[in-house]
Amino acid sequence: MADARQDTMHSKAPLLEVSGLVAGYGGASILNGVSFRLEAGQSLALLGRNGAGKSTLIASILGLTERHAGRVLLAGVDVTNLRPDQRATHAVGAVGWVPQERNIFKSLTVEENLTAIARTGARPGPWTVARVFQLFPQLEGRRGNLGSQLSGGEQQLLAIGRALMLNPALLLLDEPLEGLAPLIAAQVLDVVRKLIKDEGLSAIVVEQHARKVLEITDQAIILERGSIVHAASSIDLLHRPEELDAHLGVGGR
Ligand code: ATP
Ligand code: MG
Repeated sequence: MADARQDTMHSKAPLLEVSGLVAGYGGASILNGVSFRLEAGQSLALLGRNGAGKSTLIASILGLTERHAGRVLLAGVDVTNLRPDQRATHAVGAVGWVPQERNIFKSLTVEENLTAIARTGARPGPWTVARVFQLFPQLEGRRGNLGSQLSGGEQQLLAIGRALMLNPALLLLDEPLEGLAPLIAAQVLDVVRKLIKDEGLSAIVVEQHARKVLEITDQAIILERGSIVHAASSIDLLHRPEELDAHLGVGGR
């Protein structure tokens, strides 16, 4: 009975709640009091210029930065004091991460990259090697190739597949299109769109190409010097190029 009540409480809480977060590195604060919520099943575009603090916010949700103030809650559970590995395997709010540098294991095969992460204590769920290959058929043909033998686009797909093997409730993607040729970038964007729209996966997508990510997400926030300067629904922001231009200076590429 007590358990059932707790589940109800958790299901009503947002999937992610960041409140008053001040965090950074080596004593310096990069984030200056960041607060936002993400409901389960929703997706968020995290926008901002180079150095605005986007990756630092992602790292702070994962517990990889030095926290000076504020809290992070996953599905209503305060994880502020949990280690990164505990957040990655959290029973109700597990967080998967596709880092900006991808960081796939270069000396392991494609298949080993996927199974290695699953052995780190992933919570049970729908994602298996077979299901990842179903989503990324081009990786299946390369299952025996080493990470170092993959193209940039294939490495990015593998980084996404590896994060999915944790069966995350929330997926954090840090500039998934960065450095990819236009055709490959379009493929990766389509994969992210499928995960969000078809699989209903909750996600935060960091992107420099604002328009592309606004088209596939529900909500958006713009970071400037470690603070949120604009929060809106993605569709509203898409229709306000002057806002994109003011904060991102790109007319919303
Ligand atoms: P980009 O679009 O270039 O990826 P970003 O918005 O992700 O930028 P961050 O990487 O979060 O920006 O960097 C924000 C600030 O924090 C920058 O001034 C950066 O130099 C600093 N910074 C980032 N990582 C570290 C680190 N490991 N140690 C110290 N300072 C860091
Ligand atoms: Mg970054």
